[in-house]
Amino acid sequence: MSGSAATTPRRGILPPQDEVTPAAAPRVVALPEQLSLFRLPPAAPATKTRHVQIGARIVAYELLTGRRRLVMTIDERGLRIGAPRLITVAAIEAFVRAHGDWVLQKLDEHSARNARRHFAIRDGATFPLLDGEGRLRVTAGANRVLWQDNLLVLAAKANADLDALARRGLQRRALDVFGERLALAAQLAGCRPPPLALSSARTRWGSCSRQSGIRLNWRLIHLPLALVDYVVAHEVAHLVEMNHSPRFWVEVERLCPGWREARRELKARAASIPLI
Ligand SMILES: [Zn+2]
Repeated sequence: MSGSAATTPRRGILPPQDEVTPAAAPRVVALPEQLSLFRLPPAAPATKTRHVQIGARIVAYELLTGRRRLVMTIDERGLRIGAPRLITVAAIEAFVRAHGDWVLQKLDEHSARNARRHFAIRDGATFPLLDGEGRLRVTAGANRVLWQDNLLVLAAKANADLDALARRGLQRRALDVFGERLALAAQLAGCRPPPLALSSARTRWGSCSRQSGIRLNWRLIHLPLALVDYVVAHEVAHLVEMNHSPRFWVEVERLCPGWREARRELKARAASIPLI
């Protein structure tokens, strides 16, 4: 959710998706550069799920029309195609089929990676939690979650959705921790702490709006505090500079002197956080 791009300036910091690099992609496939990811998303893109046959397989894809050029992206969400409005579906699908082997290979790689990353909620399981490790305890109860230090207790009914309970527990911890870090960063920036909300966006670590405050991706709870602090500093700096100008980075530097390393690490670790 980024609100209305036209009326609400909202700047986001994005985790790198598991995108193929331009070098690995066919020549005709254009991929957005890191910088272009920081652009505001176009207002209300028209998306539609379609299916294309590649050899013996049927592949679902999301079509986003009204793009300037034909762009094919594969990440953990699957195949997405951005296309100019005037290109016919037949031409788009011919384009996909022309790169069929590459498409199938990348989709398979991503689904294997997703399967590895999927975190099965069960008693005794461990998971990355800030700079340490969290552990799960699953007991019988009335669908309540409780933290005891780094032990997350899920007191679950017999038919409970354990994933949902675990998410609730992790989000509660995230809100506590992120709130503290945001208060510190705001103090350093000389402003009042803005309203904080969590997001579960797949494509953004955080975003900032002067109207509605700062949103942080709750999955940051799986990463070291230094990385959380970088994302917090990044968004707080947007309260001062609603852009990515040199002045913005000076503010980030002031709030978080280790931001360069944190940004690199965030990029490197994004693809390995557990999926619940
Ligand atoms: Zn930003």
